[in-house]
Amino acid sequence: MKEGYFGVYGGRFVPETLVPALDELDEAYKTYFKDKAFLDELDILRKYYIGRPTPLYYAKRFSESLGGAKVYLKREDIAHTGAHKINNAVGQALLAKAMGKKRLIAETGAGQHGVATATAAALLGLECDVYMGTLDMKRQSLNVFRMKLLGARVVAVDTGAQILKDAINEALRDWTTNVKTTHYVLGTAFGPHPYPSLVRELQSVIGIEAKAQILDMEGRLPNYLIACVGGGSNAIGLFHPFLDDLDSRVNMIGVEAGGLGIEPERHAARFAGGSIGVFQGCKSYLLQDEDGNVLNTHSVSAGLDYSSVGPEHSYLHDIGKVSYTYVTDDEALRAFDELALKEGIIPALESAHAVAHAIKLAPTLASTQLIVVNLSGRGDKDVQHVANIKGVHF
Ligand SMILES: *Cc1c(COP(=O)(O)O)cnc(C)c1O
Repeated sequence: MKEGYFGVYGGRFVPETLVPALDELDEAYKTYFKDKAFLDELDILRKYYIGRPTPLYYAKRFSESLGGAKVYLKREDIAHTGAHKINNAVGQALLAKAMGKKRLIAETGAGQHGVATATAAALLGLECDVYMGTLDMKRQSLNVFRMKLLGARVVAVDTGAQILKDAINEALRDWTTNVKTTHYVLGTAFGPHPYPSLVRELQSVIGIEAKAQILDMEGRLPNYLIACVGGGSNAIGLFHPFLDDLDSRVNMIGVEAGGLGIEPERHAARFAGGSIGVFQGCKSYLLQDEDGNVLNTHSVSAGLDYSSVGPEHSYLHDIGKVSYTYVTDDEALRAFDELALKEGIIPALESAHAVAHAIKLAPTLASTQLIVVNLSGRGDKDVQHVANIKGVHF
């Protein structure tokens, strides 16, 4: 496959001025991910700072209530800062430091990636500026405060719709100007090459651990892997180590946000309602109208609410290696409640999409079948939002 491409997807659709920065990053990625001292340092941070390996947990009461397959949860919710995003942020921050950069920049929508990047910057003594749309800053004021506590500067973006895509544009502009001192920490397996590969590399720790853990606990590979798909980093992190031919009997399912149903601008299910297009640096499935205008999206969960999807997922979709489905806001909200009640685990609303699909699938399977659900994050951040939806206001 052509470098930087997954089939016809991926690539580098950026202004000329960004190419040297991406080349430098690609070079560093290739060098340091073969460098023993770098990898040892990353391992130490994963173990003692992030808290890896995260457990693979057999959700017994939850499984029994569904009456079918055994459901295991890969507990990324237990990782430091409460989600898988820290795996990527710490890895990229370490790479930036190895490259001699003094400053990190990032974009954030709901604030989760901004918090993860600010955390990694504090850990490694780097400066940090996080670009965020002013509308998102109002909606996520707690995360804005959290980033400031961690020593980051939050840069308000009041261009465009004042949301994530506008913040990405501003972060790219900053990077073009300050590339000598600055690394851009992209938050998911998306964007121009090498980001989709770099982020996958950093998140694959999820699947590598899960594979060893299920072999240890059950003596065999799982029948199903389920993960939610926003940009696609937690899903590709779980799936990738299972993708080689020997494991072809492992069924993999990516779950997108079906929102209020598959009508334009009421969901973020790119494979159900999208077509091929170029957006923010790469070619992938994209929610767009006939003229190629990017459509707005809706999801109860901010982390899944994006118009495009990581290019490797588009490739895996087309070759039929991974199947993609969606669950609605209501189904995700029911799964959020269900996991809390049956296991004492409140999932992130993003992760609740994966849980919701397991609720549909498990009862159709024999009790000998094994499902691994990636619990990408914890739901503490969503409790107030869910309370408001239920009509409870504090
Ligand atoms: C951001 C986020 C996601 C979605 O991002 P991916 O790159 O698709 O993994 C999923 N779950 C949680 C908890 C998140 O914070």
